[in-house]
Amino acid sequence: MSEGKLLTFVKELSLLLEQKPSEAVIFTKGKALLEKLIAKDDWLAEEFTRPHPQYYQQYLLYADPLDRFSVVSFVWSPGQKTPLHNHTVWGMVGQLRGQEKGTLYHRQADGHFKAGKSTVCLPGHVDLVSPETHDIHVVENDMLDQSSISIHVYGGNIGRISRSVFDPVTGAEKSFVSGYANQLVPNLWS
Ligand code: FE
Repeated sequence: MSEGKLLTFVKELSLLLEQKPSEAVIFTKGKALLEKLIAKDDWLAEEFTRPHPQYYQQYLLYADPLDRFSVVSFVWSPGQKTPLHNHTVWGMVGQLRGQEKGTLYHRQADGHFKAGKSTVCLPGHVDLVSPETHDIHVVENDMLDQSSISIHVYGGNIGRISRSVFDPVTGAEKSFVSGYANQLVPNLWS
């Protein structure tokens, strides 16, 4: 039961990306594939749903061998929140469990960042980020009393991409590479 969905998603997204689609196509057809994956919360193995009391967790579920995409389970305890950050590749965030809030930020003429639109993501919703349009945001768990889980899909292996965190007040930029909490990836074929 848990076998089929992630493998199906990975196959279908691979076939789509094989066609070298535009970002607009990724954000329609690829988004629809992610919506199908997260439509029912019955497939993610328990070991990739475990929150950490101090840090939000990022579990690698799949990385394309050609670095065209990666799939990561983000698990948030109440109160956990990212720093202000960018991605440098396209990203789709599908809410699987709980509720998260994403807030876009815009750099001002003097360098500091101003908060823009916030989106509250309920299960089944897919949020988008793109270096072409809006790439800098903060994401946080929007549940006070339970963990939240979202499935992130990026246009590269996000655990190998150097990107930036920003100080919203001074606008100072610092590069980082995010890591994965798991040592082993799921077996999609069992
Ligand atoms: Fe992000």
